[in-house]
Amino acid sequence: MIIVMKHGSPEADLRKVVEKVEAMGLHTDISAGETQTIIGVLGDVTQVSTEDFEGMAGVEKVLRVQKPYKLASRDFRPMDTVVEVGPLRVGGGYLGVIAGPCSVESEAQVVEIARRLKAAGAHALRGGAYKPRTNPYAFQGHKEDGLKMLAAARAETGLPIVTEVVTPADVETVARYADVMQIGARNMQNYLLLSEVGRAHKPVLLKRGMSATLEELCCAAEYIMAESSKQVILCERGIRTFETHSRNTLSLCAVPALKEMTHLPVIVDPSHGTGKRAWVAAMTRAAVAAGADGLIIEAHVEPERALTDGFQTISCDDFARLMDDVRKIAEVVGRKIGVCTSAAAA
Ligand code: PEP
Ligand code: MN
Repeated sequence: MIIVMKHGSPEADLRKVVEKVEAMGLHTDISAGETQTIIGVLGDVTQVSTEDFEGMAGVEKVLRVQKPYKLASRDFRPMDTVVEVGPLRVGGGYLGVIAGPCSVESEAQVVEIARRLKAAGAHALRGGAYKPRTNPYAFQGHKEDGLKMLAAARAETGLPIVTEVVTPADVETVARYADVMQIGARNMQNYLLLSEVGRAHKPVLLKRGMSATLEELCCAAEYIMAESSKQVILCERGIRTFETHSRNTLSLCAVPALKEMTHLPVIVDPSHGTGKRAWVAAMTRAAVAAGADGLIIEAHVEPERALTDGFQTISCDDFARLMDDVRKIAEVVGRKIGVCTSAAAA
């Protein structure tokens, strides 16, 4: 249920409404916009009538939210959420670029890549230390040692770290090193993991499951937000379809669709979205043109020798060239680029 307050209604009216909600054993989530203040009512509202609030001073209207996701919905919070971590700014008109290797291989590798990507204009460093692999015998990541290597790259470059957590038992460890905790496609519906990550109170990058609908993605975000963690970034990374030509089918219309459904920022992963190095640039440009709030791109100094996902990883030089296109297209679609560390730092 949401309670929309009248424009310019006094603070005392808002307080009285909040008190009444709380007296019913429910909670509130207040979003104060420039023109409107909206009170989200959380908890079991089945026994609450809209009439309980409609007559109160300062109340303009009371609406029931029918969607299964509430905190994540645009109805609840009309303004865009901006996720900000150091130089990375995603949402609310900002475009943030996260780049790095699929997996952390060694300290020297990740520090060198971080330096090169920062010089090219990246705002955050990605890299998996815990790798969810289809093949149980394939490289599974350096785990906590990998997190330490990422921390070394952050100390060297100042780039915040985006890294994946695959099991609730590792949340505490990963949260000690990560600036943004990534939940991968294979875990989008691992509800215990979502709740545990929500309790870590760190920004989260939530990737769309490979057979998940957009509504299911929003519900997954709701699990995290229900633990009072509001800084969630959604990521379209391609879905499984009948088409086998590309690794996944990158659904770029998820960008405008999700932006209608939710206030959360939406970024695109053109690397997993294509599975092919040669197509990453085209889909990056298309994602920015479609209004994405950010990108997550796999990049490596020697993509051909990458331990994981080399076939879809671009070189740091190609990343630098691609950033020139990103800047141009971002300007056309009215996106400001994060806090650019590059030009000044390089
Ligand atoms: C990754 O980012 O390296 C990854 C495993 O992505 P996804 O979960 O989208 O497959
Ligand atoms: Mn990968």
